Amino acid sequence: MSNQTPIRVRFAPSPTGNLHIGGARTAIYNWAFAHANEGTFVLRIEDTDPLRSSAENTAQIIRSLRWLGLNWDEGPETGGELGPYLQTERFDTYDKALARLQERGNAYPCFCAPEELHNKREAALAAKQNPVYDRCCRDIDPDEAQQRIVAGEPHTWRLKIPLDRGAISFDDTVYGTVTVPLEQLDDFILVRSDGKPTYNFVVCVDDALMQISHVIRGDDHLSNTPKQILVYEALGYPTPQFAHLSMILGSDGKRLSKRHGATSVEAYQEAGYLPEALVNYLALLGWSLDGETTIIDADTLKTQFSLDRISKSPAVFDEKKLDWVNQSYLKELGSAGFVDAWLPYLEADGLATAAKVAEKRSWFEDIYPLVVERVHTLSEINPLVNYLFGETVSLDEKSVEKCLAGEGTGELLESITALLQDENLKWEHEALDTALRGLAEQRDIKPKIVFQALRVATSGNMVSPPLLESLELLGREVTLARLEAAKPFAG
Ligand code: GLU
Repeated sequence: MSNQTPIRVRFAPSPTGNLHIGGARTAIYNWAFAHANEGTFVLRIEDTDPLRSSAENTAQIIRSLRWLGLNWDEGPETGGELGPYLQTERFDTYDKALARLQERGNAYPCFCAPEELHNKREAALAAKQNPVYDRCCRDIDPDEAQQRIVAGEPHTWRLKIPLDRGAISFDDTVYGTVTVPLEQLDDFILVRSDGKPTYNFVVCVDDALMQISHVIRGDDHLSNTPKQILVYEALGYPTPQFAHLSMILGSDGKRLSKRHGATSVEAYQEAGYLPEALVNYLALLGWSLDGETTIIDADTLKTQFSLDRISKSPAVFDEKKLDWVNQSYLKELGSAGFVDAWLPYLEADGLATAAKVAEKRSWFEDIYPLVVERVHTLSEINPLVNYLFGETVSLDEKSVEKCLAGEGTGELLESITALLQDENLKWEHEALDTALRGLAEQRDIKPKIVFQALRVATSGNMVSPPLLESLELLGREVTLARLEAAKPFAG
């Protein structure tokens, strides 16, 4: 990469909702691209729509980005020389930019009433014509226009687009050359009659003044790009390189939305996905390292990311694959990391406090090998292991019917109790295994019958993590108490 133009990219969310999966992927690409090119990653909050934006959403977006580990070099909280980084703090900048366009003769006031514009639009549509503004105020004599402004006549400001240009063409890194005939473009509004600047105007002013070299964003903005190029040109600023990202689809082939379930980063956080796994999965949703790699850590991403490996075709969000990636990261955590990540879920469900975990650390770490192959997310752990907590356990009806209710099982539980009561029996899974198999042999029954009866009596369910390791964790006393409590249900 040439070192003449410093790489500066930005993620520019509108705080009209939570940070969602699509936005997070855009942020990841910008962040990774900045790192891979020793560039600067800027966060800019596009909060000029007062009805749809909120400070809570801004705070939430910031929280989610931080949780994902996508830290920015310039932006809210961090600061930077080219701020402020909230658009609502930049209105004076937009006033100056409009003045610059006026001086350059590239903006003009439009006095058309909204109703009049609406009627013209309807008429054009009815006549099957492109409903662009007819530019009727474009040639009003500047002195007359000035008088009307001074007299207080309501007006907007429009961009005077260069009509002698046949078309606008640009080279999008992902989409290739995009050409739009100029006749399809409007002398669009830059500043509304209430003085508020429009998105297509402010985004260019900010990108230009923040010296953004590459605009990497969702392809829902592809159609805005020709208009924005005209704004850069009218202001006399260089145009950044654009890279538009194809959308993310749900499994039904439709654009990923709330209909498909959780789409916000926060919802994935609560569901127990690890930030590293989500970043990994989203990075590879539309970008590939080599067409094969499925597990990629942040450091590799930060050195290897390149725009030329972004795919133009829409990517399908595959929850199962995300689960698989998340499980791979859970396995990587090891028992200590696993317990740390699990702790908030233990606390939230009232199973254990941080102090309890600290006190019985190795007991919690021993749970890790029992569950890591069986869960995909942190929130799946508690339902699987809550039988290990507390003195008693509630028995699942079906499991009782299948494994305890049969004739002779009461007697079997008595024998098991007698066996486990023996203080000479080491409370350790291998010793327990040998003893219980011996009992099965003695009674001439399959070991499975013994194990299943014991499993239901102690865990409440016929499907549970490995029995003997679980008994180790429960301890002799609790195991015997549970056997006692299960006896009335046995046949
Ligand atoms: N604020 C815009 C959005 O959230 C993004 C604008 C841009 O990236 O140019 O859709």
